[in-house]
Amino acid sequence: MSDEHINEFKFCPNCGSRNIKTKAGTHWTCPDCGYDLYNNDAAAVGLFLVVHGKLLVFRRVKDPQKGKLGLPGGFVNKDESLEEACIRECREEIGITPPVFSYLCSFPNTYPYKTLVYSTCDAFFYAEYKGTEEELLASIKTVDGEAENCQLVPINEFDPNEIAFESMRKAFAVLRKTCTMPL
Ligand SMILES: [Zn+2]
Repeated sequence: MSDEHINEFKFCPNCGSRNIKTKAGTHWTCPDCGYDLYNNDAAAVGLFLVVHGKLLVFRRVKDPQKGKLGLPGGFVNKDESLEEACIRECREEIGITPPVFSYLCSFPNTYPYKTLVYSTCDAFFYAEYKGTEEELLASIKTVDGEAENCQLVPINEFDPNEIAFESMRKAFAVLRKTCTMPL
């Protein structure tokens, strides 16, 4: 499926005209009412939470990429900052407020959901948990049913092919290069 055919509208969302056209995959335009809709990326976040050289990951319960390894994170809500989204998603998905985190990197991604394919820009953050591995695992509560089997995986032994999304794989490579913690 080429980009030109993803999320194609049959009717103008403003006037209902059938003449709406996609312009180079970046926006839609309607010649009948002048409606312009830009196909901007949706913002999303992910958190690499590390404790003593191990990364917190979980098995995704839902599609897309059900069964693959995911990170706490998700889409940024309207009127929310990247940081606020990161904190909210951690609370929702693993039941903890993350420790102070830093920006790591960002990569584009695609996220198929029902009949739409979202183009996203995924921003990744990094945090170091100060307690023990046992304390971190004991504090996790997978409250909203999106994550199961939370586990700590040594960063150096981690198989990137297990990671759910391309953006996460690329960000993980950055994490591996820049992580200054004793591994
Ligand atoms: Zn129109």
